[in-house]
Amino acid sequence: MRVAVINCGSSSIKYEVFNTPDLAMLATGLIEKIGGSESCLRQRKCRADGTFKEQSHTKPLADHYEGFEFMASVNKEDRIVKDDSELVGIGHRVVHGGEVFREPTVIDQEVVAAIRRLIPLAPLHNPSNLLGIEAAMARFPGIPQVAVFDTAFHQTLPPWAFHYAVPSAWYTEYHVRKYGFHGTSHFYVSREAAQHLGKEPESVNLITLHLGNGASVAAVQRGVSVDTSMGLTPLEGLVMGTRSGDIDPALHFYLMRQTGMSADELEKFLNSQSGLKGVCGLNDMREIIDRAEGDARAALALDMFCYRVKKYIGSYIAVLGRVDALVFTGGIGENSATVRSRICSGLERMGIIVDEQRNATCSGNIASIHEESAPVKTLVIRTDEEREIARQTIHAVKKAGL
Ligand code: ADP
Repeated sequence: MRVAVINCGSSSIKYEVFNTPDLAMLATGLIEKIGGSESCLRQRKCRADGTFKEQSHTKPLADHYEGFEFMASVNKEDRIVKDDSELVGIGHRVVHGGEVFREPTVIDQEVVAAIRRLIPLAPLHNPSNLLGIEAAMARFPGIPQVAVFDTAFHQTLPPWAFHYAVPSAWYTEYHVRKYGFHGTSHFYVSREAAQHLGKEPESVNLITLHLGNGASVAAVQRGVSVDTSMGLTPLEGLVMGTRSGDIDPALHFYLMRQTGMSADELEKFLNSQSGLKGVCGLNDMREIIDRAEGDARAALALDMFCYRVKKYIGSYIAVLGRVDALVFTGGIGENSATVRSRICSGLERMGIIVDEQRNATCSGNIASIHEESAPVKTLVIRTDEEREIARQTIHAVKKAGL
């Protein structure tokens, strides 16, 4: 049997197909430019020996429904999903679940309506996620569809961590609070870390660092999230590829008065022209590291990125009291020994002691990079949000007795 995982953008469908029950990945694909005359599908079929068969096609696709139709026909031809009835479920990544969704949820019309009501909280993401859900429900009517929310893992934050110190009516009337994102990744790596440490998730305290283009930190206490750096939106927290992260909230009013910028314009600047890109013109960490030697702005961007992460580690050590492990994941966290080393340097007295040889040479899905004697373990774990969504989808389908 098979399970499919879907992540929809406004004109794209990213998908993976997994075998069940072993969750081996069978295919991964991307359909882009939906709604245009040159929509294209690229798919990689994963062979058992670790090699791939790649294919790409171009043809007009009017909407996401036609996208799914195309995906199904390519998968049928490639004998990945020979018939729709082979699908035990379809898991959808949904960015914002608000306070309504604390766990993966089998989708019915009520769930669709609830996700729609959350659009004001995630106007950039939930509409595209919904587009995908509705098209998939129409194209695969008998197949259980499951929503897996980026926010769900952080629903365990205590009130003193999730409330902002603003008039309480803003929370009751407008749902203003910290939600946090990247939950599937923080959950996945925290489970992997516990297993690697030979402990139950309920007994470990971790600081998980998801450092990619978007970046966030979570404080995980006895297996549950108790604080995280992203907030009402994914804009809060760390310095990111193009997002500012934490700034003085009064900066908005000052700039709006000084420049005449509208709220929408300012929002765009803070989301897509700020962060590493705003500081040095580049948002790719590899390029920034390459240039940092002779380029003062690239060096500043790198310094700011690492400094902000270090500050959060310090504050989450205070939150957790005892930390078993620090976990690096995401494109930067998994691949950049330079960034890991700079973040951890100076934290030795807090028990974080990196072995630079191990740090420079680590590879594979999970690696320890701490010195043997370090009180806090430092791990590098390859995240796998898609496989985790597949696992949660199967679990939700079984739990619902479908
Ligand atoms: P997204 O949030 O889009 O999923 P990723 O998790 O793929 O992002 O991370 C993308 C980031 O990872 C980019 O800034 C990229 O430069 C960085 N990255 C990937 N490989 C390396 C590397 N070897 N060294 C430094 N940064 C890297």
